[in-house]
Amino acid sequence: MPTPSKLTNQINSGQLTIDWDDGTQQVLSHLLLRSHCQCADCKKWQRDARQALVVSPEIRLTGIEPVGHYGLQLHFSDGHKRGIYPWPYLRGLSEVPEPTWER
Ligand SMILES: [Zn+2]
Repeated sequence: MPTPSKLTNQINSGQLTIDWDDGTQQVLSHLLLRSHCQCADCKKWQRDARQALVVSPEIRLTGIEPVGHYGLQLHFSDGHKRGIYPWPYLRGLSEVPEPTWER
């Protein structure tokens, strides 16, 4: 399994760039990352509400903490920081469509 060799968090554009040690580069929006939080709270909310998480496009990734050798714990500007994103899950997020935002 590839692991990230470099993480670049672009607050202004709201994007996280991950350079993997197999040479691939992945760009993920902060909105997409927050929308796909897998923590127990977010899963429960989605189960109860029977819909995907509703996240403001203004959401920003404010902190990144390594979790062992298998993933990242991401902190967001809404105060949410419980989500853990294992490497295979992060890689898979490239296949997921960007969330749409309707006012
Ligand atoms: Zn969560």
